[in-house]
Amino acid sequence: MPEILVLAEHDRGVLDGATFEALTFARGLADGDDIAVLVCGDHDLTEELGAYGATKVHVASHDLLNDDFGPEAWGQTLAELVESESPDIVLACGTSKGNEVMAQAAARLDVPFVANCTEVEGDGEEMTRVQWGGSLLERSSLDADVRLLSVAHHSVESELNDGQAAPDVAQFDPDLDESLSRTVVKGREIAEAGVTLSTAPVVVGGGRGVGGPDGFAPLEELALLLGGRVGCSRAVTNNGWRPHSDQVGQTGTRIAPEIYIANGISGAIQHWVGAMASKKILAINTDADANMVVKADYAVIGDLHQIIPAIIDEVKARQG
Ligand SMILES: Cc1cc2nc3c(=O)[nH]c(=O)nc-3n(C[C@H](O)[C@H](O)[C@H](O)COP(=O)(O)OP(=O)(O)OC[C@H]3O[C@@H](n4cnc5c(N)ncnc54)[C@H](O)[C@@H]3O)c2cc1C
Repeated sequence: MPEILVLAEHDRGVLDGATFEALTFARGLADGDDIAVLVCGDHDLTEELGAYGATKVHVASHDLLNDDFGPEAWGQTLAELVESESPDIVLACGTSKGNEVMAQAAARLDVPFVANCTEVEGDGEEMTRVQWGGSLLERSSLDADVRLLSVAHHSVESELNDGQAAPDVAQFDPDLDESLSRTVVKGREIAEAGVTLSTAPVVVGGGRGVGGPDGFAPLEELALLLGGRVGCSRAVTNNGWRPHSDQVGQTGTRIAPEIYIANGISGAIQHWVGAMASKKILAINTDADANMVVKADYAVIGDLHQIIPAIIDEVKARQG
């Protein structure tokens, strides 16, 4: 079985769920063998990583790694650990952070990197990966001593590894210098508290069929009742009805809620690729032949301006 090293994605010591997706995917490749994990910075994440299948955790310690995220420093650390441990496969989750760190490491090691895989065969030499925002599946093969891969975000459901023993912990001291702090997160502005579009359990989406910015008020009300967020199509952002941060799709956010309620959205491919990881989709549309309706798990054919208020009344009645 291949020796696997997984990059732990975390934000100042708080693990991102993407790491658990990568570990779950790695378990399929390791088939019971060991899985090592790299943690950049002095953070004790061993217990959580062990619960998802890590058997060894390398904690990389350096001042540059204890500041906020810096892709060059993380990439160099990963490259140095690969050189010292010689794994067969290095895996991250294909988030923007995961892919950026992997690209940094690949460039430093002078090896290829295959991003956004959905399936990997053998010892990481053959794979299927998503391209063009998910609208194309590509078969690739990789000829390298160490195979750098990322698993497409939301393509795997993370699963705990019951009965896993606590992982071993190894200290790792990378050789980093100040030139690696060229790109570092220096400050953050929280635009909005609460759930984000990409992590919301419920997304209530609105398209051109909503009719204008005021038409989103009932969608906001429904999202609030269900503990979710409002999303929208590009027709909506192009019209200036909602900010780009609400846009779902190829040039917007990829969502993966328990349910996506798509109102007045035709389901163009560029929208669909951002919505297709939703566990269930309810389409509300006047057009029974709209792509979103055809692909949805459930559909209501009719005017959203009548249907959404009816759903709100029903939810309120059930919530008492
Ligand atoms: C390079 C590129 C990137 C793109 N990226 C994205 C992206 O990231 N995200 C994205 O969304 N799009 C993207 N697009 C645009 C995409 O191709 C579509 O144009 C867009 O998604 C259409 O938005 P829509 O479904 O809201 O509008 P429309 O296609 O106009 O659909 C409106 C829908 O509303 C229904 N409707 C109308 N009135 C009502 C009513 N009263 N009640 C119920 N239903 C009603 C209609 O039947 C129709 O199905 C991109 C395009 C390109 C070329």
